[in-house]
Amino acid sequence: MTRLERLDHRFVDWIPPDLEPGVLYITIEYATAVHSCACGCRARVVTPLTLKDWELRFDGETVSLSPSIGNWSFACQSHYWIRQNRIEWAPRWSAAQIGGARELARAPGTSSLATPRASSGMEPASGRLVRLLRRLARAVRGT
Ligand SMILES: [Zn+2]
Repeated sequence: MTRLERLDHRFVDWIPPDLEPGVLYITIEYATAVHSCACGCRARVVTPLTLKDWELRFDGETVSLSPSIGNWSFACQSHYWIRQNRIEWAPRWSAAQIGGARELARAPGTSSLATPRASSGMEPASGRLVRLLRRLARAVRGT
């Protein structure tokens, strides 16, 4: 299997049943991003864009998702970041490290309630979300 080095984002109204590898599908209406696992195993990676799950950043040309994508419920156990459409691969981790990482990053398909985001001095997530939606709305309108 070929590990991808980048994803192209595509804003869509709905997520197609057959995912094209190398494409990050983003639906604003359902606030969800979906892509075919970047390791090439074709697992469907669903990343809800909510205050408790993932945050999508669109800079006008590229997208970034945070936190990282940890596919620990899949056989491939791949772990990577999507930053400005680039895939940044993490080193392969042991099970113990994965247990610790769940505190920092979230695995698709697991309950986000199990991994509450620590409330530090960060700006309220709601403010970020509003700005994100405004940015995305502008992007969809093409202005
Ligand atoms: Zn995979």
